[in-house]
Amino acid sequence: MELRELGRTGLKLSSVGFGASPLGNVFGSVSEEQANASVRLAFQSGINFFDTSPYYGGTLSEKVLGKALKALNVPRNEYIVATKCGRYAEGFDFSAERVTRSVDESLERLQLDYVDILQCHDIEFGSLDQIVNETIPALQKLKEAGKTRFIGITGLPLEVFTYVLDRVPPGTLDVILSYCHHSINDSTLEDIVPYLKSKGVGIISASPLAMGLLTEDGPPEWHPASAELKSACRAASTYCKENGKNISKLALQYSLLNKEITSVLVGMKSVEQVEENVAAARELAASGIDEDALSEVGAILKPVKNQSWPSGIQQS
Ligand code: NAD
Repeated sequence: MELRELGRTGLKLSSVGFGASPLGNVFGSVSEEQANASVRLAFQSGINFFDTSPYYGGTLSEKVLGKALKALNVPRNEYIVATKCGRYAEGFDFSAERVTRSVDESLERLQLDYVDILQCHDIEFGSLDQIVNETIPALQKLKEAGKTRFIGITGLPLEVFTYVLDRVPPGTLDVILSYCHHSINDSTLEDIVPYLKSKGVGIISASPLAMGLLTEDGPPEWHPASAELKSACRAASTYCKENGKNISKLALQYSLLNKEITSVLVGMKSVEQVEENVAAARELAASGIDEDALSEVGAILKPVKNQSWPSGIQQS
């Protein structure tokens, strides 16, 4: 598995990262056995980056991931763990007090002494000025205290990254995590890559399968996409299936093409999915992407290209 450097952190992340939200039963139920086997196979296949949040499955994902990582029985510095703060099953709270308590709770659930990356989770749901003036300074203190090695922010609208990065001193943030903006149907993250690089932050892109839109099984019930977008993705998936191709493989490979993006986080809930995603990355490295399929799927998705959905509260 290819390793890529994350901004100025010195961390080298596997190009495919393990998204652990499915371990919180977000995409259907996953047994502990399945979760352990998936994490183990991922690690053995060269995936060294694991992302979770207290929000996923109301803390379940952190607990299950913690157990699975512990069961690997390997030195702590052989894997990289990212978690988040500020978003919970009960709602949002980006106060300094809450996020400071949050990391201790996460460390306990994860059975770790420190996390590698701590991110404010989906900041568009909070006041961005509070994020700048209160939450990020609190995260900096947690970094100084050794509870996290690096800090970052996550969110859906790309403007939240520029808003915050333009208002914090250079070098304050180590990483941003964007999702659903770097896949075949929506590639808008690419537009701000030069800006993000100029700010020196590492870039993680999540949801290459558009949270299930670009899979044969389709998205979960709660998926926020419009009916039009869902229908176009279904048509793309059907095209692939009828032509002996796999939409998820193509989508993951597309997301892996841009090497400025350090790691592509794909949510995985079974050994089979880990096998398929690792194989997709290996095949891409060995023989490149299926350009014909990419252009056919691109044409099917053209009418909905870069269509997203609203997320968060109106900022003043
Ligand atoms: P995704 O696009 O990775 O899709 C996940 C879905 O695809 C799941 O149903 C999974 O079981 C399925 N899948 C995985 N591999 C497959 C394969 N080979 N074939 C068919 N189906 C397959 O969406 P995601 O899980 O939401 O995103 C990945 C990870 O990124 C999350 O688990 C989470 O860790 C992170 N993330 C973070 C944020 C944030 O911080 N705001 C937002 C979204 C995602």
